Amino acid sequence: IENYQKDNSYEIPSFSYEYFVPKTLQGSYNLYERIDKMNMDSNPLFIDVTWNAGGVISPNIPIPKTNDIIETSQQALQLDSCMHMTCTNMTMKEIDSALKKAYESGCENILALRGDPPRSVEQNGKENVDASVDKYPFKYAKDLVRYIKEKYGDHFCIGVAAYPEGHPEEANSDVLIKYLKEKVDLGATFIITQMFYNTDIFIAWCEKVRAAGIPENVHIIPGIMPITSYDSFLRRCNWCQINVPQDLNEVLKPVQQDDEALRNLATNYVAKMCLKLFKSGHVKHLHFYTMNLEKGSYVILKELERLLGKRLLPLAAGLNSNANKEK
Ligand code: FAD
Repeated sequence: IENYQKDNSYEIPSFSYEYFVPKTLQGSYNLYERIDKMNMDSNPLFIDVTWNAGGVISPNIPIPKTNDIIETSQQALQLDSCMHMTCTNMTMKEIDSALKKAYESGCENILALRGDPPRSVEQNGKENVDASVDKYPFKYAKDLVRYIKEKYGDHFCIGVAAYPEGHPEEANSDVLIKYLKEKVDLGATFIITQMFYNTDIFIAWCEKVRAAGIPENVHIIPGIMPITSYDSFLRRCNWCQINVPQDLNEVLKPVQQDDEALRNLATNYVAKMCLKLFKSGHVKHLHFYTMNLEKGSYVILKELERLLGKRLLPLAAGLNSNANKEK
């Protein structure tokens, strides 16, 4: 990612695809096939794999986890990858092991995150912050950034998360930008944002980020979430506490029962949104939350190609929108 950031001649945006860790063995085989195919169809600059912090996968079942998917992507699929890693719920031993595996697999990019604070469920079913929290040495993402930098020097290009519309624990965006700058000062060199649909809020936020002293060579990478149904769109906006732009709602609401019509209209809206972000001068790279699906991000890029009048995807792209129905 750092090498890409050194290049200043951006005539078209580059892009990356994010995948999450499947919960079954068959799911991971399917994911490898899908990553490979999506790479051939789209050729993203890099792929991301999220960190599974929830402990959903039993340690007794040998289902590939983040480190394993990163290793396969780097070595078997020959892709540049970025490994997400949370720290608040990790012991020192687990942190060291995850970083060592990433290093040995050839991965050179880490998105350093806090994750959700460790919690325990009391007998009455009430959730509490885990009393054994002492066994987890890091409190914030900045602690992980500092540690990676100290231990691995410049080997890893370190990214961090940001929230243009506020974080559930901190609504004040000025305070969040202060925390963001701390992460950058400690060694983070790129920023990936929470999903959003309101480009005006995002662009105003980018201006504040730069005014706070975060330099231009630290790329701000917007998180783009394709829209596949009206319900999931509203649910995600609600979950992430992000603004639903009135014009987008006016486009989608009348076709909420017709998924295909909705997807077509949403694709056009999100592609226009990407174009506006790129033209704002604040964005050189788009990060797609693929949700492990093949088509959503691809069709947005296809539409963006049309709007830009420039090629973004490989010439021999194989994804035929009629033949490939989203699974
Ligand atoms: P931090 O930067 O540590 O901030 C967390 C909170 O701590 C902030 O709201 C702020 O209120 C407070 N804070 C930060 N610094 C300070 C300070 N110096 N003093 C006092 N308070 C402070 N989660 C996963 O489990 N796995 C993933 O793979 C994953 N990927 C993500 C990718 C992106 C692009 C984004 C935006 C989020 C992702 N998340 C993931 C979710 C993320 O882990 C949560 O949103 C988490 O609550 C915050 O993580 P952070 O790295 O932003 O934390």
